[in-house]
Amino acid sequence: MTNSELLASWRDAPAAHQPEWPDRAAVKNVLARLAAAPALVTPSACDYLRSRLAAVANGEAFALQGGDCAETFDGATPEAIRNKTKTLLQMAVIFTYAAARPVVKIGRMAGQYAKPRSSPTETRGGVTLPVYLGDAVNGFDFDPVVRVPDPARLWRMYEASRSTLGIVDRYAHNGYAGLDQLHRWNRDFVANSPAGARYEELAYEIDHALQFMRACGAQPEELRSVEIFASHEGLLLDYEDALTRIDRDSGRAYATSGHMLWIGERTRALDGAHVAYFRSIANPIGVKLGPTAAPADVRSYVDILDPDRQPGRLTFITRMGSRQIRDRLPELVRAAQDAGGKPIWICDPMHSNTFLAPSGHKTRLFVDIVDEVRGFFDVHRALGTHPGGIHVEFTGEDVTECIGGGSEVLVDDLHHRYESACDPRLNRGQSLDLAFHIAELL
Ligand code: PEP
Ligand code: MN
Repeated sequence: MTNSELLASWRDAPAAHQPEWPDRAAVKNVLARLAAAPALVTPSACDYLRSRLAAVANGEAFALQGGDCAETFDGATPEAIRNKTKTLLQMAVIFTYAAARPVVKIGRMAGQYAKPRSSPTETRGGVTLPVYLGDAVNGFDFDPVVRVPDPARLWRMYEASRSTLGIVDRYAHNGYAGLDQLHRWNRDFVANSPAGARYEELAYEIDHALQFMRACGAQPEELRSVEIFASHEGLLLDYEDALTRIDRDSGRAYATSGHMLWIGERTRALDGAHVAYFRSIANPIGVKLGPTAAPADVRSYVDILDPDRQPGRLTFITRMGSRQIRDRLPELVRAAQDAGGKPIWICDPMHSNTFLAPSGHKTRLFVDIVDEVRGFFDVHRALGTHPGGIHVEFTGEDVTECIGGGSEVLVDDLHHRYESACDPRLNRGQSLDLAFHIAELL
């Protein structure tokens, strides 16, 4: 297959979970604009992330991937993005200090605007409407007009992603994100949270270590700036295809909507359009693996998506649930080894631990989340493989969407601040609390 045949091959395969746009001409129009628009990330930045992930594949680093289940256009404010970024950095510092290894920081950010849903419709008070599919497709409000897919949203997705990348970049490189800012990230937070107080103690220890390094004349770059990469589920293939660019130097195709894209649990069919599209791009990529994933599937993903067995290219993001992780994971890890692959294994302890609270809120128990991560580490330790990282849904705000954690959100508290447009996220205290639990495993 030539490069362009490969790039076009996804169009011949069945594409699950694509919106039914009412107006195809308008879609064509937006896609043409996107195809002519500047790339959001460069191929060399994607290659750079792959090289950082190669260190994870080799057991020398840890990956932290996280952010909202569904980003929203209204939620893409500088303040909210900075709070998410700070939470990500605080978690990363906790891991770095515990593991004494580099942490590759990847936001579920700047592109996480489209959602696969289990049902195409939603009924409330006897009224049935199309379900919310993410801000890239339709609106969240329960209103028949707002729920109609609107292709103009694809352009807004591009603009919101661009603006988010800009905010994260300025934050990461203008001295706010350096290691000498550890206390500042925590300032608005420490007073009312046990995890914040524990973090503050850690920050003093790190300060001390930094003073020692400075006294020795060392001035590491990490003191001034950090690297934060952007990732999202590559769900909307028309959008991803329109933003695919050929790198002039290598002749290879890259998705330029984000550094890393992943295939969701509902769209990972081996003969489906998502696998075909992902095969054609050179970015680092992920595949979510739920409890129904078979060892033979894993071997096929390695063969199809990582034919060169390139470290850092392929990440498996497992989401088995706290009750199944210990049974399901070992044979999948062995299957990847049989295929001669060295993929990264990342634990998503969120997506198979979701249930409906009596109040009707979709929620997750903090203890289940911790338990799945623990099972993930146990399995890898037993097999002698590297537990490469975690993938979590969190926000920088004090929401009440998951139950438990150090600051104890109770089942009756869920309605206080339930703000997610889709799945329940860890709030900032719960995120730090989880990071401290994982630090003990590291
Ligand atoms: C998600 O990450 O929000 C998601 C839908 O996950 P999964 O594909 O694992 O169900
Ligand atoms: Mn989710």
